[in-house]
Amino acid sequence: MRFLVDLHTHTVASDHAYSTIMDYFNYAAEIGVQMFACTDHGPAVADAPHKWHFRNLRVVPHIVNNVAMLRGVEANIMPSGGLDLEDDILSRLDIVLAGFHPNYTPTNKDEHTRLMLDVIKSGKVDVIAHPGNPHYPIDLEAVLTCAKQYNVAIEINSSSSVNTRMGSHDNCVQVARLAKKIGNVISLGTDAHFVTYLGNFDESLKVIEEAEMGYDNIINNSPAKVLDFLESRGHAPIKSLRRFFTPYP
Ligand SMILES: [Zn+2]
Ligand SMILES: [Zn+2]
Repeated sequence: MRFLVDLHTHTVASDHAYSTIMDYFNYAAEIGVQMFACTDHGPAVADAPHKWHFRNLRVVPHIVNNVAMLRGVEANIMPSGGLDLEDDILSRLDIVLAGFHPNYTPTNKDEHTRLMLDVIKSGKVDVIAHPGNPHYPIDLEAVLTCAKQYNVAIEINSSSSVNTRMGSHDNCVQVARLAKKIGNVISLGTDAHFVTYLGNFDESLKVIEEAEMGYDNIINNSPAKVLDFLESRGHAPIKSLRRFFTPYP
């Protein structure tokens, strides 16, 4: 299975990542990745960019070197509820991921689950990032059922258990098994913090195969499928990308 889209990457805008957006465009062109989402951390974590980073992403073209980029964020689910970016900034972005990060000291499974369900129901999040993170246990069945109901994608993260969040693997397999049963939309992301990890879905594939999840509900095999999903979530069509990925209009 070949995945042409990587929906989770970080740039130098997050201090603990080491490549520029241009590095990603160039490397994607070199290895045949057709689309990536630039999803730096929301401002609540210590090493994240200022919120203006997200507001001004519109100056970055959607297409460079024949590669498409989605303007995105990996927002933080806040301990007080909701996300760490204002609605007017979120609404300018092409894709919003959200997950738990160290700005929130883990409390307990019920509380993590409640915060995540609220964010899913808010309509502001397109993808739940790394739900298998063992540091923030959640009621997976409740979260995935709610995500299905609200058409929010579930991520199978290819850095978990490899570069970060060690001990995630078994949880991720459980997520994949449940997602198959419930019929969730699946988003794959490498969570690259350096450009050479772009498009490396080895860990995601291990999880998918171990869980016998199949590939039908994964949106990453085609940029058009990703655009369809985002429009089904209420995002306005990105006309330049629609034209680019529709060779015979
Ligand atoms: Zn994350
Ligand atoms: Zn990330």
